[in-house]
Amino acid sequence: MVTRLLVAVAIVVAVSSACVSGPASGTAFDFDATLRIDYHHTGAAGEEIVALDRVYREGSWPGPRADLIDGLDLGRYRARLLDAASGAELYTRGFDSYYGEWKTTAPAAAGVRRTYHETVRTPFPTDLVTFVLEMRGDDGVFSEVFRQTIDPADPEVREDPIDDDIVVVEAHVGGDPAACVDVVILGDGYTAADTDKFAADVHRFAAALLGQEPFASMTDRMSVRGVLKPSQQRGCDEPTRGVHRNTALGCTFNSLGSSRYLLTEDNRFIRDVARAAPYDVLSVMVNHERYGGGGIYNLFNTFTSDNQWSEYVFVHEFGHGFSGLADEYYSSSTSYTDFYPEGYEPAERNITRLPGGAPKWADLVDTDVPTAWNKAEYDAMDVEYQARRGESNALIAGLMRGGAPQAEVDEALAAGEELSLIHQQKLDAWFAANSAFGKVGAFEGAGYCTSGVYRAEIDCIMFTKGLKRFCAACSRGVLEVVGEMTD
Ligand SMILES: [Zn+2]
Repeated sequence: MVTRLLVAVAIVVAVSSACVSGPASGTAFDFDATLRIDYHHTGAAGEEIVALDRVYREGSWPGPRADLIDGLDLGRYRARLLDAASGAELYTRGFDSYYGEWKTTAPAAAGVRRTYHETVRTPFPTDLVTFVLEMRGDDGVFSEVFRQTIDPADPEVREDPIDDDIVVVEAHVGGDPAACVDVVILGDGYTAADTDKFAADVHRFAAALLGQEPFASMTDRMSVRGVLKPSQQRGCDEPTRGVHRNTALGCTFNSLGSSRYLLTEDNRFIRDVARAAPYDVLSVMVNHERYGGGGIYNLFNTFTSDNQWSEYVFVHEFGHGFSGLADEYYSSSTSYTDFYPEGYEPAERNITRLPGGAPKWADLVDTDVPTAWNKAEYDAMDVEYQARRGESNALIAGLMRGGAPQAEVDEALAAGEELSLIHQQKLDAWFAANSAFGKVGAFEGAGYCTSGVYRAEIDCIMFTKGLKRFCAACSRGVLEVVGEMTD
């Protein structure tokens, strides 16, 4: 086994036609393969403990090949690959992580430690490299938290075959992976009997994304594929409702204590399944009707398949996971205590603290800054809704945990969905009637902060529900990432 691996690596390096020298160093990349570095990220607030887990050789590198240095400066973390001999920088990539969110929570501040599994992927190097992980401080400056030499010829580099039962669905292929944003939608909570539903769902969500600007105008630079590892059971975990399911990717509601926050801590399983197709961005689609999702920049996004808001959630979370956009809402209950530290301008393109009195999208502004938008009236509507939504969620959880008749549970679930729909319709009408509607300015309230942080427009798909357009700042942010991700 060890000998076979060594020979395989040596042959590929020798014959690959895709070898290109890295900048100012002796190390080349073999773009016919991808280096996957898995590690564990452990700690509480104020500490970072990183330990290497496994290293893999996977399929062809799906990203750009011409410029491998990340020019975006997004994310709370940055991965760097250096030539081990010269120290020359070969590859960099900013990202956010589940751990990065964990360490901003109250339990983490109290000293509780957790461990999260993370992955960094790079083109496959042909010589010794140094893998460096850096963390962004509140002041925006990166500091090193981990460094490890990696030998791509090490016999411990894994190269396992893909599971036989994995299904790949091609919903839209815009072109060569190096020239496209390759989106993979993974299925969770779909049994083998649900394979046709999975394929239909992938096509439906691909259409939702590709029908939305700015993606609609560049479908030749976008690909959307589905990858399914069938689950033993449907749905996913819903801890506060007493529901526990055995699913392939381990998705669960109530992540970090928020009822609608849907994530998984099983990153290794996700990566083992995802490698069946080329991917730049991963979305996990959970076969479920409940409202929820999540999106972490350059990690993964989640959404459910069958809620009335599912298409909106998919695109909204894609905004986080692909483009590193911030949430523009601010009053909904969240678990973060200091997500955007006071006194520092957030890196995200769609929120600002107005340093020097101007937003980062100043050239797009066509009204007063800051922009009056009758915030107090909006806040009153939101406070009332949040209270009613909290009561609705508590009622549903109580009924389900208490084993109430299904008809009673279904009635409570339907009432919760109705409440959400009516509230959003009321908001949409309120936005449309506001004199600032359609203007680009600086609207106070964004990034979980009710004051001091501003968004670009009165409404946006990153602010309230509905398959509505990205605001001007978000659209620009999305296009910037597309440019960085494709040759
Ligand atoms: Zn926006």
